[in-house]
Amino acid sequence: MKREHADVAIIGAGPAGLTSAYQLAKAGVSTITLEADPVRVGGISRTVDYKGFLFDIGGHRFFSKSQEIVALWDELLPDDFIERPRMSRIYYNDRFYSYPLNAFEALNNLGYAESVHCVLSFLKSQVFPHHDPATFHQWVANQFGERLFSIFFKTYTEKVWGMSCDDISADWAAQRIKGLDLWSAMANALRNSIRPQAVAEKKDGEVIKTLIQSFRYPRKGPGMMWDAAARRVREMGGAIEMGTTLTGLSHDPRRGLWSLEGTRADGSKTRYTAHDVISSAPIRELIGMLDLPAEAHAAAERLKYRDFITVALVVDRPDLFPDNWIYIHEPKVKVGRIQNFRSWSPEMVPDASLSCLGLEYFCFEGDGLWTATDEDLLALARRELAEIGLASEAECVDGCVVRQKKAYPVYDETYKASVETIRGHLEARYPSLHLVGRNGMHKYNNQDHAMMTGILTAKNIIAGEPIYDVWGVNEDAEYHEAGESGAEEALKSVRMVPERLRRSA
Ligand SMILES: Cc1cc2nc3c(=O)[nH]c(=O)nc-3n(C[C@H](O)[C@H](O)[C@H](O)COP(=O)(O)OP(=O)(O)OC[C@H]3O[C@@H](n4cnc5c(N)ncnc54)[C@H](O)[C@@H]3O)c2cc1C
Repeated sequence: MKREHADVAIIGAGPAGLTSAYQLAKAGVSTITLEADPVRVGGISRTVDYKGFLFDIGGHRFFSKSQEIVALWDELLPDDFIERPRMSRIYYNDRFYSYPLNAFEALNNLGYAESVHCVLSFLKSQVFPHHDPATFHQWVANQFGERLFSIFFKTYTEKVWGMSCDDISADWAAQRIKGLDLWSAMANALRNSIRPQAVAEKKDGEVIKTLIQSFRYPRKGPGMMWDAAARRVREMGGAIEMGTTLTGLSHDPRRGLWSLEGTRADGSKTRYTAHDVISSAPIRELIGMLDLPAEAHAAAERLKYRDFITVALVVDRPDLFPDNWIYIHEPKVKVGRIQNFRSWSPEMVPDASLSCLGLEYFCFEGDGLWTATDEDLLALARRELAEIGLASEAECVDGCVVRQKKAYPVYDETYKASVETIRGHLEARYPSLHLVGRNGMHKYNNQDHAMMTGILTAKNIIAGEPIYDVWGVNEDAEYHEAGESGAEEALKSVRMVPERLRRSA
């Protein structure tokens, strides 16, 4: 068996892992990154190439409140960002609603009777709110009323999560639709009726994320960013082992060394050693490899994930619709969202006379959708596209299916306590094991958050102590220092690799 050593081993070449590798390489720390995918870096933020048609897993907007992250994006891709107008609509009950909502159009689509019903239902929710809302249903009904909940939130959310809104934690709503209530949505809807490109702002000027009107995007998709990051890491001497899955992990406290087993598709194995390990692999899988009390293993087993299928259809028509994506709230079809990749960037489609759409299906690994054949999924997508009326089946001339395991960490009633339990055990027993990223920390967040956890973890390793509380990074990639107030200043002077990391294996 081959043996390799680096100061830091990183599991996963997605945004979190590659950001750590990049920061560490810049500080002269040696890294080996193990990536299960044989070809593509970027993880869920990769870009798929099907016969020259480029698409990403879900469509990745680049937006961050953190200047540090925006600066890093520009450092990695100085010439390749384009600014894209955001256009998205909701399809429900055979009608399209602009999203963010346009007040007059919504009124017209819903009809006056339904609109009055929505207002009365909202007033009722204000007089009789759910005290301490625990579920997604209760939280949204408090903000918008029961009727608007059922039209604009229930069906789509249940498609995404595959469970009732009564079983989804209110945390998720509070995080994902933070800052949005009926008043700000209506104010925005009115503004959109009068001035369609108005920027979504709250009174205090803070931008509401769900209502943003334009976004940045790499001209050939988010994978461009991660290809660039991987290239820079390699140029600085960092190793990235593609097609290598972490299958074993143990720690020798006497030598202060981690031992990792990487397995390739042909069954060949390599043993790696490192002083620190950064993991963006799903917590459930990682914990299964570690020597920990039964309580930690049981907590990891309770963590759940939602999986995701993109059926990309090539359509023989140049301009199907202007939206970047359309949310499909309509319960009659299974598709949850439809991406129009040309609207993300014209360079995603190699032939100007064709379009490429991504029909997105949310599912659980092993369920009927996940196990359906590609032919069946392509047929379903063609049928549903025609049913919605966006293109005829005959116009769909080609297509492919991409399955993404563990696209979403599930926020159910038990996830928070489970993550706390696992975290407690890991910090007590394995301080040189660092969890980062989305599934790595079981946090339903975007690239910028994953990157920030990667940056702070690298800083902690370089400093040789946990200056930053990586778990404190919130979904806006904001963070607070965990240690003493001068930590940031102290960190600036830490450019040398600590002695601990310079010891050879
Ligand atoms: C549908 C959808 C839409 C999204 N839209 C946006 C958006 O608009 N904007 C945005 O910023 N973000 C968006 N995101 C979120 C974004 O994709 C993630 O936040 C980001 O990719 C997380 O990065 P990560 O590095 O933590 O994890 P991942 O992207 O999951 O990367 C982890 C990597 O680790 C590898 N790995 C896992 N286990 C092992 C193992 N045992 N051994 C070796 N390698 C392993 C995986 O192959 C993968 O490459 C979206 C996500 C989804 C699902």
